[in-house]
Amino acid sequence: MDHSRMPVLFIGHGSPMNAIEDNEFSRAWQQAAVQIPKPKAILCISAHWETQGSQVTMMEQPRTIHDFYGFPRELFEMQYPAAGSPELARKVIDIVDSSKVQPDYSWGLDHGAWSVMCRMYPQADIPVIQLSLDRQLSPTEHYEIGQKLNPLRQEGVLILGSGNIVHNLRLMMWQDTAFDWAIEYDRKVRQWIVDGAHEEIIHYEKHGKPALLAVNSAEHYLPLLYILGLQQPQELASFFAETLWGGSLSMRCVRLG
Ligand code: ZN
Repeated sequence: MDHSRMPVLFIGHGSPMNAIEDNEFSRAWQQAAVQIPKPKAILCISAHWETQGSQVTMMEQPRTIHDFYGFPRELFEMQYPAAGSPELARKVIDIVDSSKVQPDYSWGLDHGAWSVMCRMYPQADIPVIQLSLDRQLSPTEHYEIGQKLNPLRQEGVLILGSGNIVHNLRLMMWQDTAFDWAIEYDRKVRQWIVDGAHEEIIHYEKHGKPALLAVNSAEHYLPLLYILGLQQPQELASFFAETLWGGSLSMRCVRLG
């Protein structure tokens, strides 16, 4: 077994409030960071950066983007001053496909990235880059980009997908009881991950109404496909923060390796 390979993580990020609240989710993320080697750099694939064509952040100092509305001032004042890594960004462009991934100089760190990382690595002392979700790609193609990123794990890079396996804000409600379809699809995905049945997860459309309601507009689901694409033979999956929140949001987090 190769001990120098970094584990990969999928974090169910949920509400931006998790950045400033000490709760079961933010504590679980903190714990996850403690349990893995300290990364040399972080590559984050966030639900909140959708583009036409893949892009990777190139700046030396990415800005903190407050891409949400109606939250307390404290959250808008949050800064996550981690450095970028143009060097790692170049590497991503090279190993994925230099004709397909474009350098970006305008994005930064959206809340899918920083709301999680400010709990995992509050010192902000690890360089972070983001890779966008190219919405012209099929789920299979997102999965395949994940596969190509694998060599970075050997170099101490933490690859982190940030989204939610079940995410339907339209149907979200402020109560604890989860919808049946949300419970059902979250459990199915969990089992498919345990079984290594990635095809079932990639081709979610064939699983009927629970899947379509859960995946909904897909941007929170797609980061999971990158993480699954990185799984190597014999690499075990484990789960944390396995709670359904607001009826239609799965906070489930996944660690592979
Ligand atoms: Zn989100």
